[in-house]
Amino acid sequence: MKKNTWVMLGLVSIALATSGCTQTEEGATGGALAGGAVGAIIGHQSGNTGAGAAIGAVGGGVIGGLIGNSEERKNESAHRVQQCPQGHDVDVTGYASGSQVRCPIDNSTFTVQ
Ligand SMILES: [Zn+2]
Repeated sequence: MKKNTWVMLGLVSIALATSGCTQTEEGATGGALAGGAVGAIIGHQSGNTGAGAAIGAVGGGVIGGLIGNSEERKNESAHRVQQCPQGHDVDVTGYASGSQVRCPIDNSTFTVQ
């Protein structure tokens, strides 16, 4: 009975984690799967594979979600890219709009939008 409750919890957390496609949710999914695997091994050694897997999945899902969430935030403040007149992608991170940037590939300058 108690074992089934944990298994259900694990399944629910995996279902929740796989229901979306943001990095937070991808992180949660990966964390739940990895946590479930690790938990199953630990649980098996201590005689309760199902509970171990479920606890691992829940814990892994939470940790994975946190990791995915911080990845997402990193991307938001990450590189700003603009194309030069010749169509190369140039990193314009930190340049204010209206400033001149040089394309490292063809050495042309262009204005950041
Ligand atoms: Zn260029």
